[in-house]
Amino acid sequence: MSTLPPLEVIVARSAGTCFGVEAAIRLADSVRKPILGPLVHNPKVVNDLASKGIPIFERYADLDALEGVSEVVITAHGYPKELKEALKARGIQFYDATCPVLLKWVYRKIQRFEADGYRVILIGNPNHAEIIASRSYGTDIHVVYSPEDVEQLPDNLGKTVAICQTTITREKFQKLVDLIREKKYPDLKAVDTRCKPVKNQQEAVEMLAQWVDAMLIVGGFNSSNTTNLANIARKYLPERTYHIDSPALIQPEWLEGVRHLGIGAGTSTPREQIEEVKQRVAELYPGPVLFRVNDAEEEDLVGVDNSEI
Ligand code: SF4
Repeated sequence: MSTLPPLEVIVARSAGTCFGVEAAIRLADSVRKPILGPLVHNPKVVNDLASKGIPIFERYADLDALEGVSEVVITAHGYPKELKEALKARGIQFYDATCPVLLKWVYRKIQRFEADGYRVILIGNPNHAEIIASRSYGTDIHVVYSPEDVEQLPDNLGKTVAICQTTITREKFQKLVDLIREKKYPDLKAVDTRCKPVKNQQEAVEMLAQWVDAMLIVGGFNSSNTTNLANIARKYLPERTYHIDSPALIQPEWLEGVRHLGIGAGTSTPREQIEEVKQRVAELYPGPVLFRVNDAEEEDLVGVDNSEI
């Protein structure tokens, strides 16, 4: 009989797929049309769809490569406006799996601020699909992701407002806003447009990482919000935070000396993958494993944070 003390495993409140990702998967699975890019940033989800015979094209496929294709699915991160128009011009119908948060809050916010005379500064990764799409909904948006980008901003832009990528960390958004105010526009208005599922997950991982001995963060390596969760956990557990995209990556030595193990997962990580990770932990730990029930209260999941900073 094992003399090891039990390992207590706690899954972070709100871990796993958000409503936007779930809706995108439901849509793609029901229509079974070619998808333009990874539907969401999780290899398991993409592979599951591909294994059902759904063709998956490059995100920004050369339109000539779509010869013979009459219907496509647009991914959850959205597509630039011009590209949607180009698809329409070719007679290609699309099923739009763009997350409602982007359609209803982010794109509209950009358009409303511009209508009110603001120049919009979008804080996020310029190479990320969400930012590429979002900036197309404004007329002349500046994207900032580093202190060097701040230096490149013009000196006089008039009334300015900063909004952010839905998956960025509050810390990074705040730092860049502070820097822009200091170096360029002291009166910059800034509105936190992280979506509620991301905000909830970031706060949950931040709390959990402060009292467990190790954290597993589950989700695609190409997932921006999962990577951010891992970075948040690393602030408290620099040596014992493990970002994995498959339960097979868990090493037995990661559990050595661990009494409390936290699990966080990005908004594109299916809940069944979290269950597989729990199962793998139970197989690898040589003593008893206790799973703590997630007894969180219902959370507000709709829209974006919207607080001004
Ligand atoms: S993470 Fe947020 S913006 Fe992205 S799909 Fe989920 S709810 Fe939508």
